[in-house]
Amino acid sequence: MRLKLAIQKSGRLHDDSMRLLKEAGIDIGNGVNKLKAEATNFPLELFFLRDDDIPQYVEDGVADIGFVGENVVYEKAKKVEVAYSLGFGKCRLSFAVRKNENFTGPSYLTGKKIATSYPVLVQGYLDKHSIKAEIHEISGSVEIAPGIGLADIICDLVSSGSTLFMNGLKEAETILDSQAVLIKRKALAPEAEAILQKLLFRVESVKKAKRNKYVLLNAPNNNLEKIISLLPGMKSPTVVALATPGWSSVHSVIDESDFWEIIEQLKLAGAEGILVVPIEKMIL
Ligand code: ATP
Ligand code: ZN
Repeated sequence: MRLKLAIQKSGRLHDDSMRLLKEAGIDIGNGVNKLKAEATNFPLELFFLRDDDIPQYVEDGVADIGFVGENVVYEKAKKVEVAYSLGFGKCRLSFAVRKNENFTGPSYLTGKKIATSYPVLVQGYLDKHSIKAEIHEISGSVEIAPGIGLADIICDLVSSGSTLFMNGLKEAETILDSQAVLIKRKALAPEAEAILQKLLFRVESVKKAKRNKYVLLNAPNNNLEKIISLLPGMKSPTVVALATPGWSSVHSVIDESDFWEIIEQLKLAGAEGILVVPIEKMIL
């Protein structure tokens, strides 16, 4: 059997979804048609769909899993499980007001006309704050609504904010931080679940590899212990004697988040010739 994965046919999530599969070592044959494709070296079948339809297809079991933005998952409120955060497609669902206006808090929305493609999420926010306002659902180009007098305020996806800026708007309040996630159907057959676990294992090792760097450096033996103590490594660093007496080569793996800090300290401790190399896969 094959695990059936739904991804966006075209748009902001398509390329990153395909890249992730490729990095996980999964080759997608040049599909016979534009709706479906099969992996040539992994039990996976791909469906290319509009992102809005993915939660429904996964709930119905037409697809077993899907890659889709959290914004769509929560707006559609289908019975699916969010199984994994994929780390791409990051954006925010935010209210935006005309640039000369000031959003003073939820009560600012009282009685206002709000244009959005996310009526469910916006209504949820209004209910949470016991605010009554009018929601106008529009499916695209929400940012032009205030300019043409359709709404006072919008609630839309933002990443850089440049679209808002170009339309004389500014971001006021975020109601959801979103990224692409892997969703799965509630009752996945054990065989499909096993394939999913294999896929997740690969995806996780790609993500770990991206977060980490392989570091090689030359250390004077008289300060070797200090330098080793700075380097966590997967178990402990590798130390190899250099041809030059009194020096060793030290190899280790460093997490991106404390990368610069550690490099600084290594230099202070006398490390030289520091090489930093990307890691392709990382299996722990
Ligand atoms: P489709 O034709 O599949 O319905 P779409 O036009 O609804 O596509 P895209 O604009 O391609 O959707 O966005 C897909 C997803 O990308 C969004 O649902 C969201 O999760 C994510 N995304 C990331 N950054 C942004 C952004 N700045 N604006 C809109 N979506 C973003
Ligand atoms: Zn869409």
